[in-house]
This record gives sequence, C-alpha cells and structure tokens, in this order.
Amino acid sequence: MLEKVETLDLTKVIDEFEEMTRNAEEIQRQTLVDILEKNKSTFYLQRCGLNGSTDIDDFKAMVPLVTDHELEPYIKRIVEGDKSPILTAQPVPAISLSSGTSQGRPKFIPFTDELMENTLQLFRTAFAFRNRDFPIGYGKALQFIFSSKQYISEGGVPVGTATTNLYRNPKFKAGLQSIRSICCSPDEVIFSPDVHQALYCHLLCGILCRDEVQYVFAAFAHSLVHAFRTFEHVWEDIVADIREGVLSSRITVPSVRAAMSKLLRPNPELAELIRTKCMNLSNWYGLIPELFPNAKYLYGIMTGSMEPYVNKLRHYAGGLPLISHDYGSSEGWIGANVTPRLPPEEAVFAVVPNFGYFEFIPIAETEEALPKPVGLTEVKVGEEYEILFTNYAGMYRYRLGDVVKVMGFYNKTPQLKFICRKNLILSINIDKNTERDLQVSVEAAAKRLSEEKLEVLDFSSQVDVSSEPGHYVIYWEISGVPAMDALQECCNILDRSFLDAGYVGSRKSQNIGPLELRIVGKGTFKKVQEHYLGLGTSAGQFKMPRCVKHINIKVLQILSENVDYRFFSTAFDF
Ligand code: AMP
Repeated sequence: MLEKVETLDLTKVIDEFEEMTRNAEEIQRQTLVDILEKNKSTFYLQRCGLNGSTDIDDFKAMVPLVTDHELEPYIKRIVEGDKSPILTAQPVPAISLSSGTSQGRPKFIPFTDELMENTLQLFRTAFAFRNRDFPIGYGKALQFIFSSKQYISEGGVPVGTATTNLYRNPKFKAGLQSIRSICCSPDEVIFSPDVHQALYCHLLCGILCRDEVQYVFAAFAHSLVHAFRTFEHVWEDIVADIREGVLSSRITVPSVRAAMSKLLRPNPELAELIRTKCMNLSNWYGLIPELFPNAKYLYGIMTGSMEPYVNKLRHYAGGLPLISHDYGSSEGWIGANVTPRLPPEEAVFAVVPNFGYFEFIPIAETEEALPKPVGLTEVKVGEEYEILFTNYAGMYRYRLGDVVKVMGFYNKTPQLKFICRKNLILSINIDKNTERDLQVSVEAAAKRLSEEKLEVLDFSSQVDVSSEPGHYVIYWEISGVPAMDALQECCNILDRSFLDAGYVGSRKSQNIGPLELRIVGKGTFKKVQEHYLGLGTSAGQFKMPRCVKHINIKVLQILSENVDYRFFSTAFDF
C-alpha cells in the first residue's frame, strides 16, 4: 500500500518559477542587495572596502573576481573553527569537500542553510516541470545515493562531500518525500561505510519493490552505468538472496545486514521471474524497464563529462526517456532543467535568478587581466561565457571554472548548455585542448571500434613530456580485444580528431610527437575510482579524471601498470 505523502502544489511551483524568470532582472538586483545586506559585517566584504554598501556599481568596482584559490585562506579559518563572520554573517554549519576530480585537487566549500534551501527549491522546480511532461505516481525511486563519512575538523566543523552534507540533513529527506520519491533503500544502505555493499543492496532493494519504482536516479550518469554493469556480474547472487530470503555473505556491515534482513523474505516466484528476464535479454539491452516495469524515466547528470556514458545508458534504458539532472556545484546551484523532454545531448538549464547574482565573462576575455563580465539578462544567444556567481554561501564573484553557451531564454533568464571546464587539459606548447576536445576525439575513434562490435568503457589521458618531443597519451579500457590493425586505426583517428590549429601545426612540424593509445586491462578504471573513494570522494559525486597530471603519481601508476597494448599514431607520417 503506497502512502500519499505529497503536499506540494506543482502548479504553484511552476507559476512561481514563471513569475521569477519573467522578472529576472529585478530579482537579480534584489538578490544581490539581500546577499550584501545580510553579509555586510563580514570580514571579506569589509576588506573589499564595501563598508555596508549594497549598491551594484560599488560591488562591481570593489569586489574582485576570484577563484577557489583566493578564497582558500578564508575557508581555512572557518574549517579551523573561527566562528567570526568571515565570508558569511551566520556561522557556517558544515563544510563540503568537493570531489576534486574535475580540478585535480579537493576543495573545501562552505555548506550553509541557504544552500540547503536552494537545493530543495531546485528539486521542487525541476520535479514540477518533469512531472508535467513525464508524470509519475506515488511510489518509490531507485536512487543510487551514497553518503560517505562526515568527519569533524580540528576546529569542530563537520566536513563531508556536498552530497553527504545533503543526505545527512533532516530537511532533505522531508523535501524529497514531497516530490513523491521515497528511496527504495533504507538509510543504513545509503550511509553504509562500504560503497560496494551499498550498491549491491540498492540493486536488491530496487528489485524487491520493482513494481513501485517510478524512476531510477543517480547524481551522475557514470554511477547509473556502473550500477547496471555491476548488476550484470552480481545478478545471480541477487536472485539467490531473493529465492532463499537470506542476504549474501558479501554484505558484512552489521547495520546494513540488519536493515536488509528485515526486507528479505523467501520469494521464489520473484527470483524465477528475474532469472528468466536476465537469461532472455540480448546483451542486456533494455535491462532497466525489464527490471522495473513501471519506471517512467532515468534521471541524472548526463551532460558535460557524463556524455560519454549516455550511449551505454540508452542501451540499458531500452526505450525509457533519459532526463538530464540540473546544473550546479558544491559551491552553489545555477540552473534547473525545465525542458526535460530534450535529450541529454541538447539539455539546457534555466538559471534560477534568486539563487545568487550571476555574471558572465565573454569567452574571448577569460584570460584577460580585467575581463568585463555582463549581467544575467545581458548575455547573447549563441555566445559562450565563463560563469561567475555571488551567493548566500559566501561566494563573491566566484569563478567556478565552467564554460557555458547561451542557447536561448526562458522568459527573461538564459538557458545554458554546459560546454566544458575552462581548464585546458591537454597542452604541450601552443596546442590547446579541453576536456570537450578530448571527448570529441574519443567519440570519433570509438565509432571505428563499434564496427568491431566493441565499446570504450572508460578513458583518460596524459601529456607525456618525458622524452622529446612531448606527446598525448590516451588510455582506453575497452569491452574486448579487436584485431590490432583496428586499434591502430583508432589511434590514428584519435590523433587526427584534435582539430585545434596549434595541435595540428605542432604535429606537422613534429614539435608534438605521435599520439599514443594505451589499452588498459579490464577493471583498470574501477581501480582508479577505488583510489579516489579511498581518499574520501563520494561514490555518487565521482567524476573520472579525463587528464591525469604528472603529480598524480598513484593514478598514473595504476594506469601504466595495467597497459596491455600500445599504439603510436601514423596519422601525420609524410
Ligand atoms: P563538484 O566540484 O563535485 O561540486 O562538481 C561541480 C562541477 O560538476 C561543475 O562545476 C561542473 O563542471 C560539473 N557539473 C555539474 N552539473 C553539471 C551538469 N548538469 N552538466 C555538466 N556538468 C555539470
């Protein structure tokens, strides 16, 4: 019997969003004034010389554009337990540790009550629009969520990943209930100290309430793919658990065992049903709707660095729609997906004007010493910008490091497509290639691999300057081994697909050597992920590093120890 928990008026939520976005300019002004008014006593704003002013021109003249680097000393004081108003007038109740996989190093970020409120507002807004296009009933959601450990800093402040801080906040669970998505799994699974055991139990819990599952969620597409790849390996154990009503001995965490044992009863019919389905699927195509017949969609971030997983996800999803989750960061939310019908490749995010004060640096000016950012309602359709924001969590004109493209407007607020992280990841001399360029090149070469009925399971890269001339190294884990000449062709395609003039020119003049493709053994990227989990990254927030810097000795070691084959491009041999 499903409980009716919803009290949320979805039409009202949509109306509020419409109203707010129609008045985006005014809301932006009010939001900035409110942030400055609330935080005028802070050490940071005082130091900028604002002296209590809430005037936009004063703000722009006195508050500098910063990155996490400049904020580090202020945040360090907070972590050390300094309760004075440093970045925010109110004491910071917790600190988020960002995954760091996209920038190469973990960052500490204030997690405030306002950030929690924003999160709930964003979830409500996105749900209202999603539910208008893809209505779900009252039921459950299979959510692959993992709450890693929170620890208390020496200064007495709780520190955890942003998702951990969210899941451990009682307001969050209540907020989720109001959007009809009660997680299938008990809290003990979400908070399990062992993520592998948690994943197994999430899958098992999902199957136990398979008819009630309304949608399947993970924060990132990578986690969804990882979950169902894992299912391919553990399904027989799951079926055995259901048949006998006894939990596999692989689950050893006592709290998880106790919680799961309460849910399990011998159910031979269900076990047989799942077994038959698994035996009859061809290459696991359409696995998700087979397991969860009433699921209406899959939900998670599928844009940016998650795009490489979309094809695999489509394979598991059969015909189920894939809906892209919203756009934000540990530092603050940015935009909601209010056009959920768009496929992941076209997904856009409408900036939510009361989350903060948003500014945009035209892409051509991002390297300039004094770029001139424009306001939220001044951006131009078709242009790319670096985004910066000022919010209630103590970020003032903060450069997040993301590049976005304005695809259109929703009322008066821009709809953004995520393009890439600004940092160049592959560069030896005058060549400049971003994560996006790498992705495009890998996609082109993966097409050749698909002719061999094989796929790229995961990939990364490195710049190798240990010998002259330096060259790019691409690591691939693939689903099988084709003929060597096919891989040689893939290597050539990779090399030819970096189209930036600096690269092509340097290759032709042999200032950059032939691109190297290294094929690593099965499970190598899993080892990389485990390494990051060991460092405290949350399983739900993990993003594969697409370029491994030379200082990341451990990851380079994992990759190089597992190389099975190496190819050097012959694409530019004249
Ligand atoms: P984190 O540091 O773990 O909080 O990750 C935040 C970063 O993840 C953002 O700055 C983006 O680069 C990326 N990100 C977040 N949401 C999306 C999205 N919807 N699409 C693409 N990338 C995203």
